[in-house]
Amino acid sequence: MIRLELSGEHTRLHSTLCAQCPQGPAGCCVSPPELDWTDIGRIVSLDGRGWLLEQIAAGNLLPVSRGLELRRVRKREERTAPRQSKCVYHGARGCTVPAERRAATCNYFLCEDAFAERADGQTDPASAEGRRAHALLRDVYGRWDRELAEAVASRPEGPTWDAAFLDWLGAEFERLSRASRDELGELTARGSG
Ligand code: SF4
Ligand code: SF4
Repeated sequence: MIRLELSGEHTRLHSTLCAQCPQGPAGCCVSPPELDWTDIGRIVSLDGRGWLLEQIAAGNLLPVSRGLELRRVRKREERTAPRQSKCVYHGARGCTVPAERRAATCNYFLCEDAFAERADGQTDPASAEGRRAHALLRDVYGRWDRELAEAVASRPEGPTWDAAFLDWLGAEFERLSRASRDELGELTARGSG
């Protein structure tokens, strides 16, 4: 079953299948997405600048050409389970960081199995809505990130990975978000205007 948690660009998609993921206990978190420029700006805009600086200093987030790579670790969560390479933030009961500190993809991505899952063979009424939300968010975030990548490339000093650079990304994210408010209107929670 699919459940949508509508919140504009912060919208999350949940599936009951993820708790028994056919890919194994770490599910998609064996291949964490990068935090791209837009994700970094989103995290800063949600009061996460200090957290980003801490995580970069700790080596959990690694600067790369497109943003920040999430460190992968090889570990087992139970004594009898095999070691597995996965995202540094994945723990025994799933993701250990709040949605405000994840890549947007971590919040809105669902695989085809999750969209198709329903034991009684009926169509899940939330599935079509989930697919539409997924496609819209993928398109909007993709466009924002291309725009931000150009803006980063045009900075003479490049990405400096300090507080000022992160604040700039946060402000750019908020500007893009404001400009797309109408486009994301269908992802606004009912009753919240
Ligand atoms: S989205 Fe699919 S692959 Fe990812 S955890 Fe859920 S069921 Fe597993
Ligand atoms: S940040 Fe959380 S949801 Fe995203 S890949 Fe890592 S453990 Fe999974």
